[in-house]
Amino acid sequence: MTAPTPLIAGNWKMNGLAASLDEAKAVAAGISRIAGRVALCPPATLVERMSRALAGSAVLVGGQDCSPEAAGAFTGDISAQMLADAGASLVIVGHSERRAGHGETDEIVAAKARAAVRGHLEPIVCVGETLDQRQAGDALKVVTGQVRESLPRELDRMAFAVAYEPVWAIGTGLTPTTPEIEEMHRAIRATLVELFGDDGAKVPILYGGSVKPSNAAEILHAAEVGGALVGGASLKAEDFLAIVNAL
Ligand code: PEP
Repeated sequence: MTAPTPLIAGNWKMNGLAASLDEAKAVAAGISRIAGRVALCPPATLVERMSRALAGSAVLVGGQDCSPEAAGAFTGDISAQMLADAGASLVIVGHSERRAGHGETDEIVAAKARAAVRGHLEPIVCVGETLDQRQAGDALKVVTGQVRESLPRELDRMAFAVAYEPVWAIGTGLTPTTPEIEEMHRAIRATLVELFGDDGAKVPILYGGSVKPSNAAEILHAAEVGGALVGGASLKAEDFLAIVNAL
C-alpha cells in the first residue's frame, strides 16, 4: 500500500489584508522541490485574490470553513460552491476554534464535510482533544469518536484529509511528544480503515498545533503523520517554507 501524499496547509485564520498576498507569492516562489502538496487557507476575503496571485504555481488555495448549506437565506455564511467559484480547491472544516467558538458539533462538521464534497472541495476535517480530556486519559476515545462522527459516508472514495489538532497545542507553543502523536495518528488510521476500508489507508492524517521550523522535521517524519496544518507559522513565508522543506 503506497503512503498517502503528504499535505502541508497553512491556516491564516482571521489574518491578512491585500498586502499579505506578497507572503503567499513568496511561498510560491520559494518552493523548489515538493515532496507533497502545499496549500494556503486565507480568510474568505482573500480567497479569490490569492487564487489569482498563485495561479499556475504549486500552491493550492483553501477556505477555512463553509456552510453546510449550498445557497439561501444564511446571512454571513459562505458555501463550498462559492469558495470553489473563487478558486479554492480545499476547505478546513471542524477547526477547534469553530467547534468551541461557534458551537459546531460533530454532526454540523459532518454536514460541512458533505457540503464540501458536493461543492467539489476537498475537506480537511479537524479533530482533537482538550487538555482536560487528555489529562483524564480520554484523548484516544474522544478523538476516534470525533473521527467516526465527523466524517460522513459521502467521503467514501472522495479526496479528503483529517487533521489531528490537540486543542491545548494550538497557538500555545506546546506539542505532544512524538510517541503521543504517533499513538494518536495510528488510532486515527485504524478508525479510517474501519470506516473506509482500503481507501482509509490513503487518507493523509495531518498534525496541527504549534508546528514551527524547529520541530517540523521531527513531527513530519513521525509514523502515520501525512503532513501538517500550520497556523501562526504560516503567516510568514520564510517560516512556512522551512516547514514545507522539512517534508
Ligand atoms: C491551527 O489553528 O490550525 C494551528 C495549528 O495553529 P498553530 O500552528 O498556531 O498552533
